[in-house]
Amino acid sequence: MRRKIVAGNWKMHGSRAENAALVEAVLAGVTSDRTTCIICPPFVYLQEVWRMLRGGAVALGAQNACAEASGAHTGETSASMLKDVGCEYVVVGHSERRTIYGEGDELVARKFQAVQGKGLVPILCVGEQLADREAGRTEEVVAAQLDAVVRLSGIAAFARAIIAYEPVWAIGTGRTASPDQAQAVHAFIRQRLAREDAKIAGAVCVLYGGSVKAGNAGELFAMPDVDGGLIGGASLKAEEFLAIFNAADKLAH
Ligand code: PEP
Repeated sequence: MRRKIVAGNWKMHGSRAENAALVEAVLAGVTSDRTTCIICPPFVYLQEVWRMLRGGAVALGAQNACAEASGAHTGETSASMLKDVGCEYVVVGHSERRTIYGEGDELVARKFQAVQGKGLVPILCVGEQLADREAGRTEEVVAAQLDAVVRLSGIAAFARAIIAYEPVWAIGTGRTASPDQAQAVHAFIRQRLAREDAKIAGAVCVLYGGSVKAGNAGELFAMPDVDGGLIGGASLKAEEFLAIFNAADKLAH
């Protein structure tokens, strides 16, 4: 049986004072360990947030990593540095990285491999643009994003990874995929991976992301192939994030 996972992507938000209040409130509210809770603050706050988490029920993740191990890569942060400051998870291939910063499937696959190579768990984001969906190309786009990782790292790599299906048209727009739309793509993701290894495909946690809120989390997370959520805007409000966490935890085994 797969675990439920709720991960908060703070994006480029926060300050030391805001983070302290948010982390304390989240820590106070996460009282169950049946569901994995992860928060992903901006790089500069990682170490301070890690100290606040005190090794408790909330784990630390980063929002990105460099594909290279070290060297002349000004402005970048390596997977080993992220591990060094307490991260356990790293988001790779978020749609904002893909669309704003031009990260393609091959680069994202290299980031996935770099992160996993340091013992961190990649949270691989996949998802289609609105135009792709309207043109009936959702599966083609998601398949290409998955296949790039399988080609580079092999299917076995998905035994130590999380996938987040995030339709780009639903991120930060207030327009959520319906539970049936999410379920259809989550099932497709498993099918695609099952061509390589059915056991790994059945065991990998696939999160949904895109305008998840307290009010819609329960119905999304209840779908058979949806194992929780990657939460952007709503992860910045402790009460909302905790309500989403509790919606997942209610369904946890
Ligand atoms: C995200 O940033 O990954 C995300 C899903 O954002 P939001 O929840 O705000 O749509």
